[in-house]
Amino acid sequence: MTTAQRHPRARPSVEAPARRVIIAVLDGLRADAIAEIPLLQLRALMARGAWTTSARTIGPSVTAAAMGSLLTGVPPQTHGLQSDRFSVPRPNGPVHPLPAQVRAAGLPASGFVRQVPWMLKSVAHGLARQLGFTRAVFGGRCAQEILAGAAQTIAEQHEGLIVLHWPDADIAGHAHGWMSLEYRAAALRLDAALGELIERAGVHDDDRTCLIALADHGGGGAQPFGHDSDHPIDRTIPIAVAGAGVPPGPLPVGTSLLDVPATALSALGLPLPSSYVGRALVGAPTFASLVA
Ligand SMILES: [Zn+2]
Repeated sequence: MTTAQRHPRARPSVEAPARRVIIAVLDGLRADAIAEIPLLQLRALMARGAWTTSARTIGPSVTAAAMGSLLTGVPPQTHGLQSDRFSVPRPNGPVHPLPAQVRAAGLPASGFVRQVPWMLKSVAHGLARQLGFTRAVFGGRCAQEILAGAAQTIAEQHEGLIVLHWPDADIAGHAHGWMSLEYRAAALRLDAALGELIERAGVHDDDRTCLIALADHGGGGAQPFGHDSDHPIDRTIPIAVAGAGVPPGPLPVGTSLLDVPATALSALGLPLPSSYVGRALVGAPTFASLVA
């Protein structure tokens, strides 16, 4: 039995490979876009870390449900956000949100997402509180602006969790179609923001920061302007995990969005709640053993 198991709320051990985990959600970035669009920052991140372009997202493949799963480690049927509407849900089983787990270990958990209409502000802040974020910022309209709003936190918060959600590609996909010229331009803007995040967070220099970049869903599978279907193009997502000594190489077949919250806790050296259905892709004490 490890120390962490005996004292599940203890601070992470010094052996924890990462001191800080940053999760960047590239909303609606299709996995096959990485080969078709010169997303050089994302490709470089993948080359330096563990990666897949064939991971599965949850069903329904919509942002609220996927973000719910990313932040709780359980499928939508359990956390209760089963549509694309953000609301304060009624869970159907035990839920131990990722930010709350980080916070319970005495570490900060910050979230940065786009600005929300004034009438949704109280729901948004209520949801952030329920998830256990120590800091939640709803500001900016695009990756660049959301990143600018997170810059000070990225510079100063050297431990715990930082989650960023960037909507650019999804907005362009709904308005102009997935893989349209406008979508491609938005994907390139996401890539540029990712490059700036890597730079600001010092991912390639700071060996205690682990960066996880992923999409929440694809798009244009069943319908050119949507992503809510079980079509493989809508349900397949890319995931890249880099920094903090993550060895480069492909992630196992069958990797899922639900593995990301487990990976984040494991990378911080924190115990996994039994409710989490995913497995750690990398993390203490076998940081490399699960990478194929
Ligand atoms: Zn969407």
